[in-house]
Amino acid sequence: MNIVELAGVSKVYAGNVHALRGVDLTIAAGELVAIVGPSGSGKSTMLQLIGTLDRPTTGTVRIAGYDVAALSDRELSALRSRRLGFVFQQFHLAPGVPALDNVADGLLYSGLPLRVRRARAAVALERVGLGHRLRHRPHQLSGGEQQRVAVARAVVGDPPLLLADEPTGNLDSASGAEVLRILSDLHEAGTTVVVITHDAEIAAWCPRQIRVRDGRALSGSSDLSDGVTR
Ligand code: ADP
Repeated sequence: MNIVELAGVSKVYAGNVHALRGVDLTIAAGELVAIVGPSGSGKSTMLQLIGTLDRPTTGTVRIAGYDVAALSDRELSALRSRRLGFVFQQFHLAPGVPALDNVADGLLYSGLPLRVRRARAAVALERVGLGHRLRHRPHQLSGGEQQRVAVARAVVGDPPLLLADEPTGNLDSASGAEVLRILSDLHEAGTTVVVITHDAEIAAWCPRQIRVRDGRALSGSSDLSDGVTR
């Protein structure tokens, strides 16, 4: 099954900026993919469209089989909260709030009681190796630890698709490697992971690269059985 399908997708911003030009792209469930390209090539725009945070000017975006254009705002929010997880370069944690509650907030729209949200948050923090940091507030954590909290928050609801925008951009190489290892673990456990990066080394670490240049995408093989190893 394709979890992401872009067909003839273009995005024109005000001022006649053609950020994407006729992109066709599919990502199969279970892939670990890099979207790679230089600054200004259209990567973030692509992530916004895949993340259903914005709509294309032309073309079709399907996420988990749903045509995004056919969904109401309410249905879109439901799609995002149940099926998508986001990790950004700037960790976007709530300041002064313990790691446990930052992660539990990832389940805010789940309808689960706070006790259950916290219990799941603790499990998610264990998963990223921060079971011993539940009560720490963001300023008491290293950058790498903060990004791991952000990853835990993104996956606490077990979304099938995780979108990571330059997830190691603000980290030293050791912390960055640790975050990539966690993304790889999530991929091994079945999550589809899409990493946006301008870094060729990180892109090469992914089994598949989608290269973006001037708003056009050059897609690598999506064959999961191609034997590429990391
Ligand atoms: P990347 O993520 O690869 O750096 P972007 O998708 O952010 O590229 O940007 C692609 C192009 O679209 C750039 O020329 C950028 O200046 C332009 N752009 C991005 N967002 C907007 C916006 N909200 N309004 C106008 N132009 C934008």
